[in-house]
Order: sequence, then structure tokens, then C-alpha cells
Amino acid sequence: MSELAQRLAAAPPAKLQNAHNVLIYDIERVPGRAIHKHRGLTIEGDFWDLNSWKHTLGYRLPADSVIEWPRTICAAWRWYGKPKVHFAAEWQAGGHEGMLRKLWDAHNKAQITIGHNIKGFDERKLLSDWLLYGMPRPAPSKPFDTLTEARKLGFESNTLASLTDRLGIETKTDKYDVVTARAACAGDRAAQKKLRLYNEGDIDASTALYDRLRHYSSSHPHSMVGTANDRPTCHACWGDNLERTGTKLATLLTYVLYRCRDCGANVQGAWHARVAVTRGAR
Ligand SMILES: [Zn+2]
Repeated sequence: MSELAQRLAAAPPAKLQNAHNVLIYDIERVPGRAIHKHRGLTIEGDFWDLNSWKHTLGYRLPADSVIEWPRTICAAWRWYGKPKVHFAAEWQAGGHEGMLRKLWDAHNKAQITIGHNIKGFDERKLLSDWLLYGMPRPAPSKPFDTLTEARKLGFESNTLASLTDRLGIETKTDKYDVVTARAACAGDRAAQKKLRLYNEGDIDASTALYDRLRHYSSSHPHSMVGTANDRPTCHACWGDNLERTGTKLATLLTYVLYRCRDCGANVQGAWHARVAVTRGAR
């Protein structure tokens, strides 16, 4: 290992520098309820999506069998770099709509949003929630999904629990369960506290995972704040402590390559030189 690699391996992961409006969030949901008649039987139960019963029914649950849709019941979030974890739930003053308005305000202000599976799940669920209340779409932000990023690597399991465990990130061990979630919605204070701790614990886990994964990603959004003298900056930690290490080859072009001394990321310069005047034909 080079001296830089040894130092990076020993040090805690580099923090995002001068972070502003970087939102880490996580939502919790309860499943819906459905009553469905199938081959002379009436089946009643929970579902997360209309394919949940497919293994039993052999077909997708029809929407008119739904008596209660799954819904968002609480959420936790943090502005990167700030210790405070915010929490909103449908059982607080303002109810379900009040909770969604607080989440809307946070998303509307965010430049980057971070979470585990937010692209495929949380963000889409919130968009439909906001639409149902007639709210406009929040100002656009750039999602950085730790699940998407982890999947680009070779981990056998990409759940938040498995990834944090294997990366040695300390987490609260509590697990989500439907009974506690339903009890919380029904007004059970102990269940509300348990769910809140679980939800907030996931924010700590997501923040730590974000810090660990970032320098392996080439797709982390760049900072909008440049340096005073226009020095090139690192996309992964937003610092400007870059060391020129060589060039990166593309098929026809070469790019200037840097290594970030703070977080270790490979950073590619936008400047390039054309190395080929011919290319392979087929
Ligand atoms: Zn960096």
C-alpha cells in the first residue's frame, strides 16, 4: 500500500466539506389491508403492494379489494453535518398532512437527498403522498441512494443492516415490526417511542454508510460552491486537496486524473487530450 492508502485506511472516513442543504432521510410505513374473495374463500390480511398475495392467489390483488392503502406514518431526517435528527409522525399535532408538509419543506430546501433505497422507494412514495394532498412538487434535488451505490460493488447482501454490520458501523439493533407500527398509530406511547428510536437510528446508520461509500462512487453530485481560486475540487468530499496522479484512458481520449488526499477518491479532470485519430471499425 502507498503511504496515502495506508493513511486513508487508518483514518475515519472523510466528511463532506462545507455541506449545505444535504438531506439524509428515512420514512416508515404501515402495510395496507385487503379483503378478497378467492375460490369461495374470503381472505383478509396485510399487503405492501398489490403483488404481495400473488404466490397464494396466482394473480395481482385487484385494487377494489383494498380497504386501506399502505401509508407513510413517520419520518426522520438530518441535515448533513448537524447533530440534530428531526422526526415527524402522523400521531403528532398536525396529523398525517402536517407530517408530510414538514417532509415537503425539507425536500424543497435540499440540494442532495441521501438514504437507503430512496430512489426506488421513499422518494416515489413521498411524491404520491404530496400529490394526494394537492401539494406542488418540491424543488428538484439530486438523490444519492446508498443502496444503488452499494449494488455497484460486490456485496452479497445490500440491506442497510448487513452493509453496516460488515463495514463495522455501529447501529441500533432494533427491527421494524408491523405490530409496533400499528400500535404507534393507535396512540400507544411506548410503541411510538420505539418506532422513533428505530427511525432515528436508521439516520445514524445511513449517515455513516454515506460517509463510507462516497469515495467509491463516481456519481456523487459536485458542490455548487467553487473554491476562490478555481482549484479543482473532489466530487466525493468537496475538498480541494487533490494530487495529480496521472491520466485516465478512455477509448479515444485521455483525462487528467487526481487522487483526493482527504477522502481517497479518484477524481477525473474535465480537460482531455485526444490520443487517437483512428478507431476500430466493425
Ligand atoms: Zn475527496
